[in-house]
Amino acid sequence: MTECDVFIIGGGPAGSIAAGKLVQEGYHVEVVEKVKFPRFVIGESLLPECNKLLEDANMLDKVIEADFQFKGGVAFQNDADEIRVVDFKQNLGQKWGSSFQVRREVARRHFLPHERR
Ligand SMILES: Cc1cc2nc3c(=O)[nH]c(=O)nc-3n(C[C@H](O)[C@H](O)[C@H](O)COP(=O)(O)OP(=O)(O)OC[C@H]3O[C@@H](n4cnc5c(N)ncnc54)[C@H](O)[C@@H]3O)c2cc1C
Repeated sequence: MTECDVFIIGGGPAGSIAAGKLVQEGYHVEVVEKVKFPRFVIGESLLPECNKLLEDANMLDKVIEADFQFKGGVAFQNDADEIRVVDFKQNLGQKWGSSFQVRREVARRHFLPHERR
């Protein structure tokens, strides 16, 4: 049996960010994940505020290095075919004015090169 300070069930965004932050605080963390990675999963379109979470967990540099598609805003089209563009730079004062379109099925290899099998 492996001993640890914190045992996290699920290596999705919540489990990964929690684990990253706890490890930085000096805790011995074990994460278990029932699905074999890498795998496709929906939820790839990040908002600028996600950058803050990634930065707090010291993961933002890796995401930038991974060279995912830059995402500076979004466009909505209504049923009258009008298109409204939302520019992330025109936000409510948050630090980040852009984000990324992350392919989650490839993201893991940038973070955990020594995946345990
Ligand atoms: C259709 C859809 C579209 C979405 N689009 C977006 C988007 O574009 N942008 C965005 O930011 N968010 C999006 N989301 C939301 C985003 O997917 C979630 O907010 C995010 O995945 C939540 O992360 P999580 O770590 O809490 O959960 P999850 O991502 O669900 O991760 C939980 C992990 O736990 C694992 N697990 C579960 N049970 C066990 C167990 N018993 N033992 C071991 N492991 C286990 C699962 O395999 C999974 O990997 C979308 C969600 C849906 C449903």
